[in-house]
Amino acid sequence: MIAARLHGVRDLRVEELAPPDPGPGELLVRVQATGVCGSDLHVWRTGAFVTAFPVTPGHEVTGVVAAAGEGTATAVGTAVALDSRVPCGACPECLAGHAQRCGAIGFLGEVCDGGFAELVMVPESRTWAVPAGLDPAVAVLAEPAAVAMHAGRRLERLAPGARRIGVIGGGPIGALCALMLPPDLDVVIAETDPVRARLLADATGMPVVDALPAGFRADAVFDCAGFAGSVATAMAACAPGGTVMLVSLHHAPEALDANALLAAEQAIAGCHVFEDEMPATLAALAADPGRFAPVVNRVVGLPELPDAVAEAAAGGYRGLKTIVVPEGAA
Ligand SMILES: [Zn+2]
Ligand SMILES: [Zn+2]
Repeated sequence: MIAARLHGVRDLRVEELAPPDPGPGELLVRVQATGVCGSDLHVWRTGAFVTAFPVTPGHEVTGVVAAAGEGTATAVGTAVALDSRVPCGACPECLAGHAQRCGAIGFLGEVCDGGFAELVMVPESRTWAVPAGLDPAVAVLAEPAAVAMHAGRRLERLAPGARRIGVIGGGPIGALCALMLPPDLDVVIAETDPVRARLLADATGMPVVDALPAGFRADAVFDCAGFAGSVATAMAACAPGGTVMLVSLHHAPEALDANALLAAEQAIAGCHVFEDEMPATLAALAADPGRFAPVVNRVVGLPELPDAVAEAAAGGYRGLKTIVVPEGAA
């Protein structure tokens, strides 16, 4: 099988590998599509989170079961989306059902081989059935869309009644956060790149501005950008009593004005991957695939992936989601 393997920082190579054999409890999945994520670019640039090189990255994966190991119940041919999380399974957070809060959590494509390949092997317990007929080019959004649904559910719990919402950062996660919110909310997305802003406005049908002005008075602002100063920008765009939802990873510690937070009685909430939202996310994608399909706007094959990753990491790609489709999988 063909796989794109990361051998070290900025060293992604397309190689021929022997296909793995599923062991007990494991499924071998023939990849139909894998999304390229901002965190893949971060890993390519820094080697962060990888436990051993070489590794096959790719954690946003959908495909079809090609072989099933002993003791599994999933039929060969079943379409599945993969759960990207590899939690420890034994800490108090994991045992309480909050695996996304596990201090030892790792991710598919970082602590084990992922989906930038023709075949990927995963435990059956980390697969979710894709609703019949859902296009793989939409099902591939299940993982990042589950992140968006989780952030939306946390908002509902932490700030019920929030109606005026700002989203900072119009990448795929920002777009999906906006699309996963109830359609009757008043959502404005901030994106500085004019090319991406136009794509985003077309994909979401929502207002896209260059920046949320201070005094925007949102009930909640999603930080889906994670640039230095984005938390302060989100706080300034929130009304007093508003809530800042942290969705994007930051690459360095953020400074914030604690007195401003205190005086405005604002709240800041972390949102890490997702909890149990994968099945509901797949159902939401299947219920309205046309709403989500425009988020994917570039398809590359495995041989083109190293160049596409290098281009995106250098800031030369200004679209929304890129997906990788192995040759013959479309
Ligand atoms: Zn991702
Ligand atoms: Zn744990």
